[in-house]
Amino acid sequence: MRLLLLGRNGQVGWELQRSLAPLGEVIALDRHSTLPDGGSGDLSDLEGLRAAVRGLRPDVIVNAAAFTAVDRAESEPEQTHAINAEAPGVLAEAAQAAGAWLVHYSTDYVFDGSGSTPWVEEDATGPLSVYGSTKLEGEQRIAAACERHLILRTSWVYAARGGNFAKTMLRLAAERERLTVIDDQYGAPTGAELIADVTALVLRQLCAQSPSTFAGAGIHHLAAAGETTWNGYARFVLDTARELRPDLPLKAEEVTPVPTSAFPMPARRPLNSRLDTRRLRGTFNLALPPWQQGVRRMLTEILNPEAV
Ligand code: NDP
Repeated sequence: MRLLLLGRNGQVGWELQRSLAPLGEVIALDRHSTLPDGGSGDLSDLEGLRAAVRGLRPDVIVNAAAFTAVDRAESEPEQTHAINAEAPGVLAEAAQAAGAWLVHYSTDYVFDGSGSTPWVEEDATGPLSVYGSTKLEGEQRIAAACERHLILRTSWVYAARGGNFAKTMLRLAAERERLTVIDDQYGAPTGAELIADVTALVLRQLCAQSPSTFAGAGIHHLAAAGETTWNGYARFVLDTARELRPDLPLKAEEVTPVPTSAFPMPARRPLNSRLDTRRLRGTFNLALPPWQQGVRRMLTEILNPEAV
């Protein structure tokens, strides 16, 4: 099996390079990748994307690339639309022509964040931001153009590699006596490792079907189990860091809860980002671990490298 991976250096893309490897030959591209026949890994080069799929003839396309700078998207709507809406549509057309599966990632930001129950896949969408509305349009373009598509909506993604919320909290806790963190947005921190592992497990099942069937296609919610707020997440990070590394000079004794309105940002965020994952777990017979498990593992890697 041949798999084309786009966005190989992102949080999820990096982990996909690892998790997809046992499935077959993985051709992993980033925005700077060029192929001999005019193919490109740049999502803003639509002709180059078409040429890449035509030239490589993959069985599976996994698109982990996206414009993810949620606040910058508000002032760069055209660029955001090109990458989050137009490019997925082009990939879907190319996948359909090649008879390939297209795996794509979307977001809790397609919802308006109302209520307090976890969102199911059929719930009405209502994005509050340019990022959310362009990601929603990307979903719609894919569904319209490609039968064999899998859209995994996830939330609050973190990875050990690069910057992340936990690292920011640890740095601030070393500098300040008191942290102030939002306590009215609810969701589940979800590790890029988990997303990549689930993607590979699901693909294994999808590709084992006969070519004329595609049970399991469509939108699925993928997030770690449980829920918290950013404030709860920050407290868990500091408590776990103190447990793993009692020697760390963490000054902050208090994580003060504040509403979202205390930190005005260009893009509005949904307050309720809870995702109901029953469809994914039932369709593919999978279990999703509690969010604390992955965050603790990530902290162990960051803080205690000799222990892993
Ligand atoms: P990252 O921001 O870590 O990675 C996105 C990748 O896309 C980067 O490697 C970036 O490249 C690449 N990219 C951006 N523009 C282009 C372009 N024009 N051509 C090619 N590549 C490009 O995102 P995540 O790994 O966290 O996100 C993966 C998916 O999950 C995305 O679809 C995202 O919308 C979704 N998601 C993410 C959430 C989160 O909290 N991060 C929450 C919910 C959903 P470069 O490094 O060069 O900029």
